[in-house]
Parts: sequence; C-alpha cells; structure tokens
Amino acid sequence: MHWLDIDKRCVWHPYNALPSKTKILPVKRTDNTTIFLDDGKELVDGMSSWWSAIHGYNHPVLNEALKKQVDIMPHIMFGGLAHEQAAILSQKLCDLSGLNSVFLCDSGSVSVEVALKTAILYQKAKGKEKYKFLALNHAYHGDTLGAMSVCDQKNSMHSIYGSYLPEHIFVKEPSLGFDSSYEESLADLKEKLEKYHSQIAGFIFEPLVQGAGGMRIYNPNFLKEAQKLCKEYDILMIADEIATGFGHTGKMFACEYSDIKPDIMTVGKGLTGGYMTMAAMMSTKMVSDTISNSDIGVLMHGPTFMGNPLACSVANASIDLLLSSKWEEKVKNIESIFKKELESARDLTIVKDVRNIGVIGIIELKDDKYAQEIQDFCVENGVWIRPFGKLIYSIVAYTMSDDDLKKVIRTMIKAIKNLER
Ligand code: PMP
Repeated sequence: MHWLDIDKRCVWHPYNALPSKTKILPVKRTDNTTIFLDDGKELVDGMSSWWSAIHGYNHPVLNEALKKQVDIMPHIMFGGLAHEQAAILSQKLCDLSGLNSVFLCDSGSVSVEVALKTAILYQKAKGKEKYKFLALNHAYHGDTLGAMSVCDQKNSMHSIYGSYLPEHIFVKEPSLGFDSSYEESLADLKEKLEKYHSQIAGFIFEPLVQGAGGMRIYNPNFLKEAQKLCKEYDILMIADEIATGFGHTGKMFACEYSDIKPDIMTVGKGLTGGYMTMAAMMSTKMVSDTISNSDIGVLMHGPTFMGNPLACSVANASIDLLLSSKWEEKVKNIESIFKKELESARDLTIVKDVRNIGVIGIIELKDDKYAQEIQDFCVENGVWIRPFGKLIYSIVAYTMSDDDLKKVIRTMIKAIKNLER
C-alpha cells in the first residue's frame, strides 16, 4: 500500500474534509525552493510553506544547527529550568524588536492567545476589568478560539462557532494601498475608542499588510495615528508580525514603516526559518513589570514544548543567517521583479487588482470561482501556489533565483490568461 492511501483514509489536512475534498500531492523531499513530488515531478515553491521558509529548505547552516542541538538536548521542560539557546534567542528578539520581555510558545495562534491574555492581565494589574479587543475588518490572527475571535467576522469562521466566540469590536479597515487614505478608519477607531474604551484591553493589528484576511497592503501612517489615540486611553497596541516579520515586507518588522513601537508583538512563521513550530510573544518592560509587580503576579500560560531547544537553536541560526546575508538587497530585488512581472496581469478582464510589497505578490480576481483551476494549471506547469478565494498570490524565500521567481509569476498569469480564452 502506498503511504498516500493511509493519508487519504485517516489524515486531516488543513481546512479540509476527511477524506480530502481536494487533491493532495505527495512530497518526497525539498531543496532550497524546489519541491520534489513522489512521481518525480518538480515544483518551484511559490508559497515558502505558508510564508515561513525564508531561507529555502535544507539550508546547510540550519540543518547543522539542528543536528548539533539534537545531540546536546532535544527538549527540556521550561517550567523551573532554563537553557542557553532560549536565552540567546530571547536576547536576539529583544535586540531586533526593541522590546524587553519574551514568551516563547508553540505556534502563531498560541502567541496571539498569549498576547490577548497578557493585555487582559496588564489591565487587571492596573485595577481595570477590560476584556474586549479592537481589531480591524479583514484581520486574520490565527485559528485557535481566542485568535479567531479577533479575525474578520465575515471572512472567517465566526459564523460556524457562533456564540462560543467572545465578541470584540471591529474597526473599518484602512483603504487598499500604501499611499491610500485612512481617514475613515481613523475616525471609526476614534469613535469606538470614545464609546468603548473602558472595556478595551488592546488593539490588535497586522502592520502594513493584512494577510490571510485579504492580502491587503495599507498606509502605514494609519498605525502612527492609531497609536496616539490608543495611548490616550492606555489601550495596548498589539502588533501581529507573524506573517510580516523577519523581512517579508522589506523591513525586519513591518511596524518600522509606521515608526511605532508596539506594547506587544507576536512573531512566528519565519522565526525558525520555517523549520520548527515556534512563535514568540514579546512585550515592553512596562507591560511585564506591571503584571509581575501586581497582585496577579504571573503570566498564566505554559505550554509543554515552551522554549523547545531544537526550535530555539534553529531560530538562532536562522536569525544569524538573515543578519549576515544581504537580505534587504535580496528582498528589494524580489520586490522589483514582482512589480515588473505582475503588471501584465493588471488589465486582464477577470483581474480586479495587482499589488506587491517585499517578497509578497498578489493578483486579486473579480471572482472566487477560479482558485482550484488556477492551482491545478500551476502544478501542471511546475509551480506550487495555494490561492484562496479571489486571491492568487505568492510569498517566496529570499533565496529564490530570479528565473524561478519569474517562472512562478508568469505561470500564475498564464493560468489566468488560460481562463480568459
Ligand atoms: N497571525 C497572522 C498574521 C498569520 O498570518 C497567521 C498564520 N497565517 C497566524 C497569526 C497564525 O499562525 P499559526 O498558523 O502559526 O498558528
């Protein structure tokens, strides 16, 4: 029996039925930005494993870091014990973000849960019972229940889980475009703050680019103004950099475009170069001191695999590799290729918009019925992408060659042109 038959019989895949309602491709191995399928087919990877494998796959430096760590200590519980790799990683994260206090956890969604808990505890420590959050329409912050509750209400699973999800307060999204207006959103934010500030613990947002909720690039000045308003009411700014962090938008963190320092930041995905599941919630010293010096006294969270040494060691290697590479130049080069190549899709009849920033390139269609057909065409022609709804997009590793990147973009466009015939 082929192992794929077992997969078909008893393995859930993300956002899928069992057995799967869509085609599942068997992967044999990976190398840099190539996926090798079981049948010998090769695909150029336009997804970098959901935007995490920033250095490509099987990078010798990252492989070595893991091999070395596994002989020293694969795992150790973090309750009451400490280890060098976690300390070194936390220092690196503080240096990069300008924040002070680091909570290492298992996945992006969990880091969002911890961020929400931290904001509630901070407010409680100050004697305030504040259990609501502000979030933007089109937001995406993860699939666990707390994280889901701050995702866009229409464009997410709110309707399925109904009243099980806590209700939060949503703000009109800033218009599409780096230079576009954000006045309406700011006015909405101001109004909601004036009305509900006594209940609101924090404002959670994806800086500059809203990812899975619409692949929307917006004006970074919105957050600069939003920060001033939140400060007035001591409402914490929670930047979810899980998708944007570690250079995806051309800056180490997308918050830098807005010139803001959030009170809390979450990172994941690229943190370990896409090797291991790990994320982090970071905060200012003010936040951690307020909780620690209060009657509450502790941050009540502690996953079994917190600070896993394998994940920490590969994260340390990934950050060092990033900092010692010319990543800014590489991301700029990828950005300019996306910009030039995507232009030829702009005027196609089924295309609504094309946009790009950093290593992120997006073609938004007018209709959501083509995603599967486009994906099938791309796979047929040697490219891996996973469109959702109207969004045909690619986020690539910084190590991708110019030729492979052009192949990804041109194949996506060919797939769309193919539909127009
Ligand atoms: N926040 C953002 C902005 C994300 O893009 C994602 C994942 N796509 C998450 C949170 C959740 O991360 P994870 O899938 O690691 O739980």
